[in-house]
Amino acid sequence: MLLRHTPKEITERSALMINPAKTCQPIGAMYAALGIHGCLPHSHGSQGCCAYHRSTLTRHYKEPVSAATSSFTEGASVFGGQANMLQAIDNIFSVYEPEIIAVHTTCLSETIGDDLKQIRKKALAEGKIPEGKYMISASTPSYVGSHVTGFSTMVKSMAGLAETTGKKNGKVNIIPGWVEPADMEEIKRVTKMIGVKTILFPDTSGVLNGPLSGEYKMFPDGGTTVAELKSAGDSVGTLALGEWCSADAARELDSKNKVPCKVLDMPFGLKATDRFIDALRTIGGVTVPDELSMERGQLVDMISDMHQYFYHKKVALVGDPDQLIAMTEFLVTLDMWPTHIVTGTPGKAFERRIREITKDLPYTVNVKAAGDMFLLHQWIKNDSVDLIIGNTYCKYIARDEDLPFVRWGFPILDRQGHQYFPTVGYKGAIRLLEKILGVLMDRKDRDEPEQSFELVM
Ligand code: SF4
Repeated sequence: MLLRHTPKEITERSALMINPAKTCQPIGAMYAALGIHGCLPHSHGSQGCCAYHRSTLTRHYKEPVSAATSSFTEGASVFGGQANMLQAIDNIFSVYEPEIIAVHTTCLSETIGDDLKQIRKKALAEGKIPEGKYMISASTPSYVGSHVTGFSTMVKSMAGLAETTGKKNGKVNIIPGWVEPADMEEIKRVTKMIGVKTILFPDTSGVLNGPLSGEYKMFPDGGTTVAELKSAGDSVGTLALGEWCSADAARELDSKNKVPCKVLDMPFGLKATDRFIDALRTIGGVTVPDELSMERGQLVDMISDMHQYFYHKKVALVGDPDQLIAMTEFLVTLDMWPTHIVTGTPGKAFERRIREITKDLPYTVNVKAAGDMFLLHQWIKNDSVDLIIGNTYCKYIARDEDLPFVRWGFPILDRQGHQYFPTVGYKGAIRLLEKILGVLMDRKDRDEPEQSFELVM
């Protein structure tokens, strides 16, 4: 009963967050940067921030995460970190030889007012960035936004590398948003199956779900290459998956490189995947192959076979906006009842979108952006649910309230598999259903009296 002090009575809180449903901006920036091949993320701040960001990613992905830091001490904290950053650029390119460094700020360097764009200009003028190598940067103060904001800002900086040559490359940019490496792999599998050539960025597959080969590689084989990022300016269009994670980068490519973009929901569940496949089909001028129709049919079959177990089950959700929007729609498709929904990322548009998706339900959904898990727990205490879906930290609520729980989202620190098994697309939706059904069935098996304890469901 770790959360036994959570009171049922909800009081107005405006200046206090308890058990936040988010983490800090640079973690998102670092995760995005790891999706560029040959990239060394760099944290412009103290060593402690960098260690925290790396360790959070390592604990989720179970992979080593390399990153450099400007190692602020008292001097840099007072007078600014330009000298540290310039020295770091020198050291990084001469010692580790990355193709590119992706620098993000932290609370400290933002408060001092360090300007990474100006520091980059100075580094270029002083010849500290070698010919053919690159530095991109993102402003990621953690006292605003969330890890999602940091991710989005770094992805927008990647889009800034795109060049327009005037000759189209016949490819479609896909900006997948903050999904698992396995999801990025799945998006590539589906686009290949449908016959559309793509540039996917960022792409952490092969980076944060790589093999143990016995050989250490500072820069794993995966990731979007700098050449691909440059070529993104010549693509025929961009599909941005998720308003919060990907839209800013897509709009940047649209306005700067005149690559038209379409912002879609992340392809979790049946309807969002249908829209993604339809957009791919339209933009690529191709037809949907039978193999993919087969996968869709299998998903529909599983939904209809198991519908009675989903029907009107109440669900509490916590996570990031793009994921939650698609997941809520999927649950409604299954005739489940999303009841309480919280994201730590700010943005009233999230609440509006959730209300729109759930408008036909026979009750008003509790939804909050910039909310916390304390509030979610209070909502559950007042109106219990049949299932919780969310990150690892939900386990405390699930245990205290004795509720079935599906781990999904970021971070997942106490289980394995999320890096290897996708939840996007039709196949991914089947996996989501398997996970949801698994915990609902386990609960039934535990609680049913012997006379209705079924061998076959
Ligand atoms: S000081 Fe800011 S950037 Fe550093 S770990 Fe804390 S919240 Fe994140």
